[in-house]
Amino acid sequence: MSRPVEIVVVYQSLLGIYGDRGNAMVLRSRLLQRGIDADLIEIEPGDRLPASGAVYLLGGGEDAAQVSAVKYLREDGHLFEAMDDGAVLFAVCAGYQIAGQTFTVGERDQVIEGLGLLDVTTRRGTERAVGEILTRWQRPDGTESLITGFENHGGFTTLGPGASPLAFVEIGVGNANDGTEGAVQGRVIGTYPHGPVLARNPELADHLLEVALGRSLEPLPNDEITELRRQRVAAIRRQGSRR
Ligand code: GLN
Repeated sequence: MSRPVEIVVVYQSLLGIYGDRGNAMVLRSRLLQRGIDADLIEIEPGDRLPASGAVYLLGGGEDAAQVSAVKYLREDGHLFEAMDDGAVLFAVCAGYQIAGQTFTVGERDQVIEGLGLLDVTTRRGTERAVGEILTRWQRPDGTESLITGFENHGGFTTLGPGASPLAFVEIGVGNANDGTEGAVQGRVIGTYPHGPVLARNPELADHLLEVALGRSLEPLPNDEITELRRQRVAAIRRQGSRR
């Protein structure tokens, strides 16, 4: 029998305040629904990260928490090993900023070195981006899907030449009010929306799983989820037109 697919949730005590742990539950559930065994592994600072994970998940958190998280991750080192071995990293908000080259914190914009897994840099802005966000995700096969979520960040992110935008903003702020949202570089995806975003956008969840497993997965059609997505998109567009 093949080994269970390991989904590693990194540092809930630091990067857990926005409920992004739900992304891991969605990934596991979508694997189990297809008869693929999956383990959810939760790692806290002080525990060693396994290097054998298929997907690593970083979530949102406060500036101070993300400074600690990056320090622990660098000391641990296993995330870098796992990425060299072909793992997928899905990083949301603070996690996205941590995965980049640098981010700034505090009134004096102290520059903190990130993990350098994504060619992006983040700086504090003068206002926070808070609210529902709707973006158009350019899927690798050339088709487009809508992504919905809730953004809440004070850092604004600029992409370097090594990273490509994950999506383009229809409503909301995204990276830096430049029309782009998130970043992709090889097997690393960073994005701002919470939700959890994979619960709201199952196609993105399946894309991550397909990259991690290196094969396509049969769809899991669900009329209720489709209808809920339709309602959310309509609600964000209604709200957006009043902004
Ligand atoms: N602390 C970061 C910021 O404000 C990330 C916030 C978050 O994870 N929601 O930009």
